[in-house]
Amino acid sequence: MMKRMAAAVYARISQDRSGQELGVRRQLEDCRAEADRRGWQVVEEYVDDDMSAYSGKTRPQYERMLADLAEGRRDAVIVWHMDRLHRRPAELERFVDTCVRAGVRDVVTLSGDIDLAKGDGLLMARLLAAVAANESDSKKRRGARKALEIAQSGRPMMGGPRPFGFEVDRVTHNPAEAVVIRDLAARLLAGETLASLATTLQRDGVATVGGKEWRTNTVRAMLTNPRLWGMRVHQGQVIGAGTWAPVITPEQGERLRRLLLDPARRTNRSARRYLLSGMLRCGKCGRPMHSKPKNGVRRYGCVTGPDSRGCGGVFISAEGLEAFIAQAVLYRLDSPDMHQALTGDGPDEEATRVLADAIQADTDRLDDLAVMFADGEISRAEWLTARYRIQQHLEASRREFAKVTHRDAVADYIGRGDELRQQWDGLNLSRQVAIVKAVLDHATILPAAVPGRHGLDPDRVVPDWRL
Ligand SMILES: [Zn+2]
Repeated sequence: MMKRMAAAVYARISQDRSGQELGVRRQLEDCRAEADRRGWQVVEEYVDDDMSAYSGKTRPQYERMLADLAEGRRDAVIVWHMDRLHRRPAELERFVDTCVRAGVRDVVTLSGDIDLAKGDGLLMARLLAAVAANESDSKKRRGARKALEIAQSGRPMMGGPRPFGFEVDRVTHNPAEAVVIRDLAARLLAGETLASLATTLQRDGVATVGGKEWRTNTVRAMLTNPRLWGMRVHQGQVIGAGTWAPVITPEQGERLRRLLLDPARRTNRSARRYLLSGMLRCGKCGRPMHSKPKNGVRRYGCVTGPDSRGCGGVFISAEGLEAFIAQAVLYRLDSPDMHQALTGDGPDEEATRVLADAIQADTDRLDDLAVMFADGEISRAEWLTARYRIQQHLEASRREFAKVTHRDAVADYIGRGDELRQQWDGLNLSRQVAIVKAVLDHATILPAAVPGRHGLDPDRVVPDWRL
């Protein structure tokens, strides 16, 4: 008895929601019937689930079928329609190439056979693939029109990950995330920096929808998205109100956009920020304290709740504390100890320059390595090994450099505390922060002896001086 042709059957579930296309079961049934009619044996059915061939995503079953074809384990392919197989010409060429090499001539589609041994077989396949590609393009155009209609109706855009603060329906608030958004907005409008917000989010273990750590740019993008105050955005433009409730007020939203998107405001913001962000620890539990404004009053606090692990037992108003720490810093700058510390064994300009050169050289080497890897001159393993060594060295240089520049921040002011005291309020915040950080490692804030007492009780502040 003659060996029966070993046929591969390929089916794919499409994302087309119009309901016009046939389900995968029907595709398989049609293909099996076709195999029966030809007297072929279906030895394997390959089904890819819910992925569009056009999007370029990998299709594991398709790849497995190609591998089986390449190994000569299949004699023929049956597929319901050519656009089930490929939608891009390059993909088709690869498929045809694989078949030709393996001597597989019979590629059957239910819309017409393709005999790859004949010249017009390939042409036919190409035509079918071109038609499929064109269908995808017009689908996209239809999709764009549909997207605009949906946008104009105020309904949310679906697809992709859900926005932070909302459930998957993009309308219902996610209660926990909405609280985070309101807190971030309030803190930012009270003068805290994006960097400080991102740092506290990381520290509190709050992740993005994708499970990643927040960065300043992702926090900025999230807080400036008009969707938060109920506006529908289409292709970068607000085109009207959305069908969901705002998480923050439109007035807050506009202020956030002005604050975060105005380039002039990015570098030199007004004074209502937090001088001691990242430098305070709770005297009860030892955790870092966060900026925690209340009723428009700037405060630092040990933050409790599911997103933060503090005890919630210590709060202090920012105004008095910052003035007190600043005075203490300025006082120390005039002390003989400080003078000794800064001038005694301080690094000279030469050492600073050498460090800066070393950092630049390492950075260049990392760039060169990446190029060498991209050009195939070195393997991935070689690249990673070399990169690791350079990064170790680079980190050490950066740490050393940070020490040097900390000292640089105050070097000009040694013995001139009075002068600095007069200038202090006019310095921008980043300069103030640099000076305080140069001198203060951190301060521990003890619980209030008399709760609710106004003004600063200096006994609550236990500084740990760096210098
Ligand atoms: Zn605490």
